[in-house]
Amino acid sequence: MFKKILIANRGEIALRIQRACREMGIKSVVVYSEADREAKYVKLADEAVCIGPAPSAQSYLHMPAIISAAEVTDAEAIHPGYGFLSENADFAERVEKSGFTFIGPTPESIRLMGDKVSAKQAMIKSGVPCVPGSDGALPEDPKEIVRIARAIGYPVIIKAAGGGGGRGMRVVHTEAALLHAVQTTRAEAGAAFNNPAVYMEKFLENPRHIEIQVLADQHRNAVWLGERDCSMQRRHQKIIEEAPAPGIPRRIIERIGERCSAACKKIGYRGAGTFEFLYENGEFYFIEMNTRVQVEHPVTELVTGIDIVQMQIRVAAGEKLPFTQRQIEMRGHAIECRINAEDPYTFVPSPGRITTWHAPGGPGVRVDSHVYANYFVPPNYDSMIGKIIVHGDTRGQALARMRTALSETVVEGISTNIPLHRELMADAKFVEGGTSIHYLEGWMAERKR
Ligand code: ADP
Repeated sequence: MFKKILIANRGEIALRIQRACREMGIKSVVVYSEADREAKYVKLADEAVCIGPAPSAQSYLHMPAIISAAEVTDAEAIHPGYGFLSENADFAERVEKSGFTFIGPTPESIRLMGDKVSAKQAMIKSGVPCVPGSDGALPEDPKEIVRIARAIGYPVIIKAAGGGGGRGMRVVHTEAALLHAVQTTRAEAGAAFNNPAVYMEKFLENPRHIEIQVLADQHRNAVWLGERDCSMQRRHQKIIEEAPAPGIPRRIIERIGERCSAACKKIGYRGAGTFEFLYENGEFYFIEMNTRVQVEHPVTELVTGIDIVQMQIRVAAGEKLPFTQRQIEMRGHAIECRINAEDPYTFVPSPGRITTWHAPGGPGVRVDSHVYANYFVPPNYDSMIGKIIVHGDTRGQALARMRTALSETVVEGISTNIPLHRELMADAKFVEGGTSIHYLEGWMAERKR
């Protein structure tokens, strides 16, 4: 096992990884930007190295600075967390070439899955069902594009092969709007992702977002750890996640879960990963794979009792998965609310100094957050300041626990989306379960202040 790991990330996930290391008796090195000097995990770290000024490009995305920090501190492995460089194949490659272990899949797997077109092709080959769409990237010929769209049937969605974070997508309802949409998405994709390739899919009108968590070791073992329902989204960004997904028969989930672990074996995947699907009328359609730990991993941890971050570290060190598929048991229900520093009505980010921070507690309540009273939320990064995750024997109990947890939480000095979560936990449709990915935006449009 590693003696020292460098955590190439910030915020709650940096603290989460640090906790996993500490429990395993591994020393942790954190890197931080000048804007994160005050962060709790920086203060708690065994070692901390400042890697540059606040802008991510000069710190958390600056590969040479991170690798030098690993060199000067004698770390053996680098955990990339999520976001930043976590799905950057070049980074994984540079980490390994510099003699460190990258805690994640191989650069080849990241590359394969990072391009949504090649990912989809690999999934089709592995027997994972995909959204009907173009075979690969769209050609230049406008006539051909029109023909493909007709064959798929409107509405269609144009997506950037290199897209991520909910960006680089455009829905097209009519042929008249098609070519312009393709052109605009291409131009945006070229600028934002350095890859102008786009592809086309059938736009599913009312799906749910259901994803499967997988874990694979370097000895060709792969398991799936159940599903998560992440349909509560705003602008393609998840804000509430839960496990299991309400109302979907277990045998349907099992079938897709088995396909995912089989696909991992087929592509030689290692580490933690997530297969994201849209689910409509009893069918699953693969949309993309995330080759890293996800924000919402705790809901799976709470229902399976498996520490996903520790597993990532173990398999990166070459250990075998300590359980088989049959030994994985799902118990109860878990829900996560992402707490963002933003206005609960306008969603405008609300960085600044937190004057009061009172986190909830009690049975089945977990809070993953790096903030504290008097912490300054820097304006430079994502607005998520933490996550409240609850577990109960039933979904009803989990909901009740989340309501209590949210009612106990006090954050002052900045605005947060806690009022939004409070309203949603009381919303009849959400409480019923099984809302589609469009539900939250529709709800917000009708919401009264
Ligand atoms: P990203 O990598 O940016 O997260 P995804 O491919 O995972 O992109 O898609 C993000 C979200 O966009 C999905 O959760 C869903 O809300 C919507 N979406 C993507 N593809 C489709 C589709 N074919 N039909 C309907 N909605 C889609």
